[in-house]
Amino acid sequence: MLIRILLLWLSALAPAMAKLPPLPDMGAPSDRILSPLEEERLGQAFFRNLHRHVRVSDDPMIQDYIASLGGRLTGHSDMANRPFHFFVVMEPEINAFAGPAGYIGVHSGLIVATRSESELASVLAHEIAHVTQNHLKRAFASAKRLSIPLAAAMLAAILVGTQSPEAAQAAIIAIQAGGLQQQINFTRAHEQEADRIGLQILADSGFDPRSMPAFFERLQQSTRLSGRRNVPEFLRTHPVTSSRIADTRARAADYPYRQYTDSLAYLLVKAKLEVLSSREPARLLPLFRQRLRRGTPMQRAAARYGLALVHQSLHHLEESRELLLRLLRQFPDQPQFVDALARVELAQGDTESALQHYRLALKHFPASTMLQLAYSQALLHSGRFSEARRRLLRLMARGNVPPSLYKHLSQAYAGMGKTAEAQRYLAEYYYATGDLEQAIRYARLALKMAGGDRILTAVARERLRFFQQEEKARKR
Ligand SMILES: [Zn+2]
Repeated sequence: MLIRILLLWLSALAPAMAKLPPLPDMGAPSDRILSPLEEERLGQAFFRNLHRHVRVSDDPMIQDYIASLGGRLTGHSDMANRPFHFFVVMEPEINAFAGPAGYIGVHSGLIVATRSESELASVLAHEIAHVTQNHLKRAFASAKRLSIPLAAAMLAAILVGTQSPEAAQAAIIAIQAGGLQQQINFTRAHEQEADRIGLQILADSGFDPRSMPAFFERLQQSTRLSGRRNVPEFLRTHPVTSSRIADTRARAADYPYRQYTDSLAYLLVKAKLEVLSSREPARLLPLFRQRLRRGTPMQRAAARYGLALVHQSLHHLEESRELLLRLLRQFPDQPQFVDALARVELAQGDTESALQHYRLALKHFPASTMLQLAYSQALLHSGRFSEARRRLLRLMARGNVPPSLYKHLSQAYAGMGKTAEAQRYLAEYYYATGDLEQAIRYARLALKMAGGDRILTAVARERLRFFQQEEKARKR
């Protein structure tokens, strides 16, 4: 339904676009360039729209990891002070992309395909370089001719390269409408520059520079073996040539050779994504068991963790619990193990023990957003709505929250019997995930139910007006 609406806007746009003058050259007049504020708005709208096409991971642990890996890399770029936003898209295709305002997404399929943390870091470093070198400015500047909500919807459809036929159709129309695809496909010069700058960022951040040519070469070889139809999405927007790989390899060889170790967090996230993206998790059991017998202690711990997650997904809760207890003896207070164990205990009905694990871990890591979110979810699960609400509101005040936080807040209010507030936060959840129709619907309900609450009435009315304005801008 929503996709169809998107199609409608895009097709309505097509005739208008045909009459527009050709895009200016790279030395475009400044009025074509987005102001930082416009770019930030475009980036936020782009991120909201992505949720209409693909599942953006709201797993606190996965989000925490990709944000900290991204932050380590951008800290060594020449835009160390600007905010970037990293996130994982739960799709099997090998893809990564840079949207407006430093919104950088990486598909779970790409993370699973990496053989080391340096390989994953090399893809992120390459995307970061596209941002710092302003390679995307021209594509985003064309947003100036469209409304920002519309441009964001088109960019989202194109960049995720989703396999969903509806979304693909939307992307095709967008391509015809805006010629936007050509502006997103990087030129060879851009790719070489992103490799060169990305390699520098990678090495400065303490990762293996040799992993960049190695990973890109493996991607290229996989297309040679599987034929043109299976070109990884990443290679469509970032064409890899043999000379590019040779250049990067030569440059990487200038760095002295040394050993690099993967972080435990990388190994755990990769194992978790393997389990989450598997259609038949049971088939992973022999694989993880095999890995238990080799590798470093951290690699074996990740295999045991993967095994525990598979057992959990198959509802072998006792097996899962034993594996996690063993891991916690080896790595006391490790947040990922605490979280997994608490979830198993919640499933077993042992709520008190689960909550107690979170409380202890929070004593060691009071600032961990990941643990705070997980603990709030456990509180909701156990019917402690008021405390969950208090913690969720505190997290929201810190800013930069995942959309799922609004949904949890809505659940907390609903549990407390505060229906109007529950609707109000449900409206925020739908807005944050690009569903304006539902956002308007729930804002209306909140307004209707607010009764004599003057503050809530004012807030709901203001939000309703804002959502309606956005919807108008999108249709324009
Ligand atoms: Zn590229």
